[in-house]
Amino acid sequence: MLNQSCIMCKQRSSAVLCVTCSKDIVISIKSPPSPSHPLLVDMQTIVAANNITVLGWYQWPIDTLIHLIKFKQRVGFCRLLSHGFIRYALPTHDLPSVIIPMPSSWWKSMCRGYNTPSILSQMLGKKLNIPLLNNYLKVGLTATSQHHLSRTKRIDKHHGFYCSSNKPRLTHVALVDDVITTGSTMRSAIKALRQYNPDLRISVWCMGMTSLDGINPSSLT
Ligand SMILES: [Zn+2]
Repeated sequence: MLNQSCIMCKQRSSAVLCVTCSKDIVISIKSPPSPSHPLLVDMQTIVAANNITVLGWYQWPIDTLIHLIKFKQRVGFCRLLSHGFIRYALPTHDLPSVIIPMPSSWWKSMCRGYNTPSILSQMLGKKLNIPLLNNYLKVGLTATSQHHLSRTKRIDKHHGFYCSSNKPRLTHVALVDDVITTGSTMRSAIKALRQYNPDLRISVWCMGMTSLDGINPSSLT
């Protein structure tokens, strides 16, 4: 076991996570950004959500955890993030009646075999006893990967979201995503959700948020 290395920092460790990384994760998860943080208030306006709850900034160690989940099949870390989100970030009052995972395009799910927001939503729903609304919000075949696009192009892109023809009666939903960057994808998803339900209250639940334009989030607190 001694030649094993920590999955996050690659230093020698007898456990999957070394003591230092474990401590960093606990510190980060226990200190989510306040909903009144200027960057969260800005993002709330950009995406037109009723409120946004974020577990942490998309920086060490949250960024590495999310990368391991999305690209290294370490989906077990979803439990750590979702339970930390409920315990330290989520206000307990005014919970939504359903949870909607941010859908991914069919080919992305095919490549990865799973959709991270769906796994996070399942864990959040189970812990909070809130049902999931799967296959309601969908993404069309025209949506493409954003990895290679610049920030400006991402904002301008049409994301091809739509809702299924089966329209349930909804008043307040939580839209769950792993990372929010420019907010453009989220804004399109929210627009689609409100198309037939303009008064729908939408809470955005997100595990990591990048600071717009490279601003250090701590400098604004
Ligand atoms: Zn480590």
